[in-house]
Amino acid sequence: MLIDGKLRPASDGAVIDTPNPATGRSLATFPDASATDVDDAVVAAAAAAESWRRVAPGERSAVLTALADVVAAHADEFARIDADDNGSLLREMRRDVDMAVFYLRYYAGLTLQMHGDTVPSEPGTLTYSVRRPYGVVGRLIPFNHPLMFAASKIAAPIAAGNAVVIKPSEYTSLSALRLGELAADIVPPGVLNVVTGTGAQAGDALVAHPLVRRLAFTGSAATGRAIQRRAAEVGVKTVTLELGGKNPLVVFPDADLDTVVAAAVRGMNFTWQGQSCGSLSRVVVHRDVHDAFVERLVAKVGALRPGLPDDPDADTGAIVNRGQLDKVLSYVRLGQDEGSRLCTGGDRVTDGALGDGLFVRPAVFDGVDPGSRLAQEEIFGPVLAVMPFGDAEEALRIANGVSLGLTASVFTRDLATAHRFADELEAGYVWVNEVGRHVPGTPFGGVKDSGIGREEDVDELLSYTQLKNVHINYGR
Ligand code: NAD
Repeated sequence: MLIDGKLRPASDGAVIDTPNPATGRSLATFPDASATDVDDAVVAAAAAAESWRRVAPGERSAVLTALADVVAAHADEFARIDADDNGSLLREMRRDVDMAVFYLRYYAGLTLQMHGDTVPSEPGTLTYSVRRPYGVVGRLIPFNHPLMFAASKIAAPIAAGNAVVIKPSEYTSLSALRLGELAADIVPPGVLNVVTGTGAQAGDALVAHPLVRRLAFTGSAATGRAIQRRAAEVGVKTVTLELGGKNPLVVFPDADLDTVVAAAVRGMNFTWQGQSCGSLSRVVVHRDVHDAFVERLVAKVGALRPGLPDDPDADTGAIVNRGQLDKVLSYVRLGQDEGSRLCTGGDRVTDGALGDGLFVRPAVFDGVDPGSRLAQEEIFGPVLAVMPFGDAEEALRIANGVSLGLTASVFTRDLATAHRFADELEAGYVWVNEVGRHVPGTPFGGVKDSGIGREEDVDELLSYTQLKNVHINYGR
């Protein structure tokens, strides 16, 4: 781990084994941090934050740029580590590294944007606000984009003058550790700390540490709520949450069917086994085109090939771990028990070269009851649920009828329908005739149980600062 600029194991020597989900073979062991190790990291971060906030913005920018350069120089290595550690396709993990580099550079370029304001006040007075970093930021990230999150989610808090303690997922910690190793020569000691371990031990110690006043969490809604609760037991902390989704893709009959079918496959992110918060996992399709849509969708999804991470012809990789695999398979059974029709996939690959790995064939369910668990709960796997609608009101009722609200998409050529759905879909990020794309610099985040706060834009930078107002009486 990287703690106070030094690379070290857990103080009690504890380790966690991480298997390669595509082969089932052990890849490595890594430190299982105790609460003591987390305390060491937080105390080091608190000391480092005192000087880091006084470092000129241009210099903070230069450090992040240097980190971006070193990540870019190790792009192939990082992609390889992530592909082996989380089972996703190598080419997808290569794109993740590019995004990581992009966001490190993006926030490096925004350090001058954390400015305050002046407010007109009485003669002889001057009132202005300035932005101050929190000090120590605790950053907890999920398994699905390990390096991309490890690198991009430390950029804004460090750019804003905070020190960070980051804890990656215990299922995919290797790339964050490599990042820490490379950062040790670039980032001043204590400004970036990487601790690895379980959510229940290391994660909890970070959330509950009194010196951590700002927490940013990306992960499941259930863990997000637990973190809010836990943080509140200790003090008044600012907690932002990027949580799950059960996101709708609404298809009107005037949309080009082949375009929408291709979009539905892309939007579900089968390329990383549906393991994406923004996956459009509910397709709400107009009755007039429902049958034709499903026929083409099933043919396309049925043709997707699971494969080993470096197989250039593979369409989808392995599920990250055994628990996640069991969860996906249990939802496939549940869907059938609930009366939904399984049109393709949903079974584990048990033969051939993939037989030892955690591979599931991409699944499509049709005739899904919008109120059923299959339609309501985030699976975070390659399972797509299709449900028909009759009119726009019904489509909105179904689309908005879940507790989550991260992304949503509508396909139509009708301008009025497009604007109405853009306005009324309950989601933080809406696409019209588009799926999946994150435009850098635009706010990403959820409404309802999908979260609090926005990231990937300048607001993310500002969210790592607090406004302080100064009123000066220089009176006559
Ligand atoms: P998770 O909630 O199980 O774990 C996320 C992180 O929290 C891990 O590092 C874990 O160790 C830690 N953790 C778990 N319990 C904890 C506790 N009690 N205290 C402190 N830390 C704890 O999520 P996951 O399974 O790794 O990731 C999948 C979830 O992440 C999905 O719900 C997905 O939608 C969501 N996600 C959201 C976004 C977004 O931007 N909104 C992006 C990616 C993933």
